[in-house]
Amino acid sequence: MQLMWFRTDLRVHDNTAFAAAMANGPTVAVFLLSPGQWQAHDDAPCKVDFWLRNLTELSRELGKLNVPLLIRNADYWDQAAEVIAKLCQELDIAQVHLNQEYGVNETLRDDQVAQTLETQGVSLQSQLDQLFFQPGSVLTKTGTYFQVYSQFRKICYQRLHEQIPQRVAKPAAQTPLAINADSVPAHVEPFAPPSKALQRLWPAGEDEAMRRLAAFAEEPIADYQTDRDIPCKPGTSQLSAYLAAGVVSPRQCLHAALAFNRGEFDSGNAGAMTWVNELLWREFYKHILVGYPRVSKHRAFRVETDALKWRRAPAELEAWQQGRSGIPIIDAAIRQLLSTGWMHNRLRMVVAMFLTKNLLIDWREGEAFFMRHLIDGDLAANNGGWQWSASTGTDAAPYFRIFNPISQSQRFDPDGRFIRHWLPELDGLSNKEIHDPSALGGLFATTDYPSPMVDLKSSRERAINAFRDLPKTVEEPSA
Ligand code: FAD
Repeated sequence: MQLMWFRTDLRVHDNTAFAAAMANGPTVAVFLLSPGQWQAHDDAPCKVDFWLRNLTELSRELGKLNVPLLIRNADYWDQAAEVIAKLCQELDIAQVHLNQEYGVNETLRDDQVAQTLETQGVSLQSQLDQLFFQPGSVLTKTGTYFQVYSQFRKICYQRLHEQIPQRVAKPAAQTPLAINADSVPAHVEPFAPPSKALQRLWPAGEDEAMRRLAAFAEEPIADYQTDRDIPCKPGTSQLSAYLAAGVVSPRQCLHAALAFNRGEFDSGNAGAMTWVNELLWREFYKHILVGYPRVSKHRAFRVETDALKWRRAPAELEAWQQGRSGIPIIDAAIRQLLSTGWMHNRLRMVVAMFLTKNLLIDWREGEAFFMRHLIDGDLAANNGGWQWSASTGTDAAPYFRIFNPISQSQRFDPDGRFIRHWLPELDGLSNKEIHDPSALGGLFATTDYPSPMVDLKSSRERAINAFRDLPKTVEEPSA
């Protein structure tokens, strides 16, 4: 008997490990509930809920293939080896199949499971599935991981020209087993279920993921290069939650873009090319996580920036977290996050830069806050995005190039449509006034919208000085 251990790969189509398990013989599937570990990782309640809703769909799809999905508890991942080993004994499992996950704790867990299973004579088959290329296989000439995205992408393009990663077929149904599937819990303590409105924004299941992908690749992808920066437009795929939970695979995304762009990924339609680039940013940050494990241990990629004197300012942090900064685009973006579990990419950069530069608050505070609220929370992408914005990361924004949130607002939300949607209290302002109500000098007294919590000009200078004062070189740690 084969055991398929599902984690963040909650689909039956194009699932490398699942296809391998089914090709090897009768298969039973398992998912581990790990609320203690999820909490330690700051996983958002809406993300946990999304996993559970997708598990219900997965169990239904597996049922059609006569594969029972079992649910087991391993509160923390250090219990995973014992739980999986026990299940293997009970079911007389010969092989356990899984798709690789990246990150220090994930790797440690899987190593422990492999060692324990070995003592039982059970082999562990681990597959590359979340990524196009095996981490460690896209390296510089001197054999190190790339630190610059454009150079990494160049090698990825070369590899894609040699061979496009192919999708694997959905396995055929097996003969029914005498094992019943477990019911998937509707919720897991202490993660409170999100509102029905939030759930409706993110329906579960592979059909929904494929519907989104098809709808995006049919039209919006053509204008992605321009529309992706406009927060009030549905110009992006909104697939991140599905990619993070593995309800859709990056290969399925790549093939949809290729089909639209006549098989091209680095020429042809600019929108499709730009979108493939984003899939490669996703790839890049996961390779960074493996190549530089310190970034998954709350360390800065640029070690010298760990000496930066971040401000401890709990009241300011709280105002930013609650959307009370007094800068409309920032507050609208935070409200979008709190009510939908998602934030537009342009605004993720704007709010992250505001926190780390204008407020000079440690990027780790923002990273954790995002994780606690994002339905697409992903260690590699979130850490990469925060360290990019904070200028502490690989290929990050230079510290002196600080976004002015009001200029960003004027540029990317010129009519204030996004702001009006999330801050209806500012609806009475003109398209010009809405970006910066404080410029009216107190004349806008109809609401209790706060004044800006910080002066943008002097706080910008404060940040530049703090970065300029850093020691220039610090020895790079080995990990
Ligand atoms: P699209 O524009 O349609 O892009 C397609 C896919 O490519 C995305 O679904 C995502 O998987 C990937 N992608 C796009 N941009 C990036 C990027 N810059 N880095 C890595 N992958 C990317 N993305 C997450 O998936 N999870 C996170 O926790 C996360 N945190 C972020 C935090 C900050 C501070 C910043 C600046 C960015 C973060 N991103 C994160 C990246 C990006 O904002 C989201 O992937 C994107 O907004 C998701 O919307 P979409 O699916 O419509 O993306």
